Amino acid sequence: MPSDDFRFYGHQLVDRLADFLVNVGQLPVYPNVSPGAILSRLADHAPAEGEPMDKILEDVEHIIIPGMAHWNHPRFFAYFTSSGSGPGILAEFLTATLNVNNMLWHSCPSATEVEQATLDWLRQMIGLTPEFFGIIYDGGSGATFHALAAARENIVDLDIKQRGLAGRSDLPRIRLYTSEQGHSSIDKAAIALGLGLDGVRRVSVNSEYQMDPQALEEAIANDRTMGILPFCVVATVGSTSCTSIDPLSAIAVICVREDLWLHVDAAHGGAAAVVPEMRHILAGCERADSIVINPHKWLFVPLDLSVLYTRKPEVLRRAFSLVPEYLRTSEGEEVVNYMDYGIPLGRRFRGLKLWFVLRYFGSEGIADRIREHIRLGHQFAEWIDEHSEFERLAPVPLSTVCFRAHPKGIDEDPALNELNERLMQAINETGEVFLSHTKLSGRFAMRFVVSHLQTDEEQITRAWKTIQARLHIAVSGL
Ligand code: PLP
Repeated sequence: MPSDDFRFYGHQLVDRLADFLVNVGQLPVYPNVSPGAILSRLADHAPAEGEPMDKILEDVEHIIIPGMAHWNHPRFFAYFTSSGSGPGILAEFLTATLNVNNMLWHSCPSATEVEQATLDWLRQMIGLTPEFFGIIYDGGSGATFHALAAARENIVDLDIKQRGLAGRSDLPRIRLYTSEQGHSSIDKAAIALGLGLDGVRRVSVNSEYQMDPQALEEAIANDRTMGILPFCVVATVGSTSCTSIDPLSAIAVICVREDLWLHVDAAHGGAAAVVPEMRHILAGCERADSIVINPHKWLFVPLDLSVLYTRKPEVLRRAFSLVPEYLRTSEGEEVVNYMDYGIPLGRRFRGLKLWFVLRYFGSEGIADRIREHIRLGHQFAEWIDEHSEFERLAPVPLSTVCFRAHPKGIDEDPALNELNERLMQAINETGEVFLSHTKLSGRFAMRFVVSHLQTDEEQITRAWKTIQARLHIAVSGL
């Protein structure tokens, strides 16, 4: 692309992006499209000859934008959202322009050292001790996979890295534990690591959806009597359904006593520890072996960026380090070669966007915004609690509210579940608000997650009005 064209279209695109970020709240947060609608408008093969940039940008506007679920919308309350903040977006632009591969220190010293410095800042911001070593992966699932691989490597005398698991009669069955509310990425890691789904034991939770430490102890003891070898516990800080927080300190005591690796999944919730008065949510982490936190969830960094901290980097490295001749460098132990700590060899310069975001907002600026999200989440919970036709289905330790409609005269659970499923669909069809759901104790629960950078009191008020208005329509349709 000639430099003049790059400059021309670059300026044009930045203007469009700036307008988009100001106006995204006016767009439907969720598109009204059927499956295949976008696909049918895209060419079925790549053009043989290059096309003009104008045409490409025009198609973005007319084909792609109308089919977008706008994750960067201030009334996107579904899943755990992600904020593509201004500094994060600009950093992505720069990252693509520099286009380095951060596999070795030698392959780009700045990329390695920015990652080291920035992860150390974040470590301090969430109150972890200096012994925690950080590394960036694409997502929380990848980070947890690597943590569990290290936990498996940490089992002494089994030599799994060299000899694998398949076909070995000398190996005991090994097991990891997480609560009924643990994320599915833990099961996926178990599949990929050769433990199978039977290698994961789900421990029961209390009425607040937190892991029951006594049930954990019993499960471990039971397994030991059956000749199964426990090796790891995954505790959650901010579970996906309702952001419940497992009792880390009690779990850590069990892990130390039983000699088990403790991995903490704080993919979403860990961000709240940036707020000084919320730091207690990570109490107990000082005894954890690893912890995952996703800046692409609640730290205003665009997708994708997840951080794994571990107190045992040497074990993680032992699990993955392989250095073929063509990647051998002369720097030795004085540098970090991130390729030694995981599956990916090629690694984007992801640290740059975290560095931009932390510098632009500052730790206090980030804490202020997260504190406000927590206040808004509690405000929404209060509205639910005060309304005679809605009810809350779980505590609100962070800024996520699980709720359902419960109009008078509808008491049967199948009917209530159906009503709420229809209600959520009707709410989402307005294009005003986007919610997702879960099931808690068999009850269909809508999730209202306040964590987008642009979500403020006006946005949650507007969402609450839409939700109430739709309830009346849903009930009258019964
Ligand atoms: N852990 C928790 C608690 C999550 O909620 C999620 C995703 O929402 C993950 C892990 C997986 O993270 P990712 O989507 O980045 O792979």
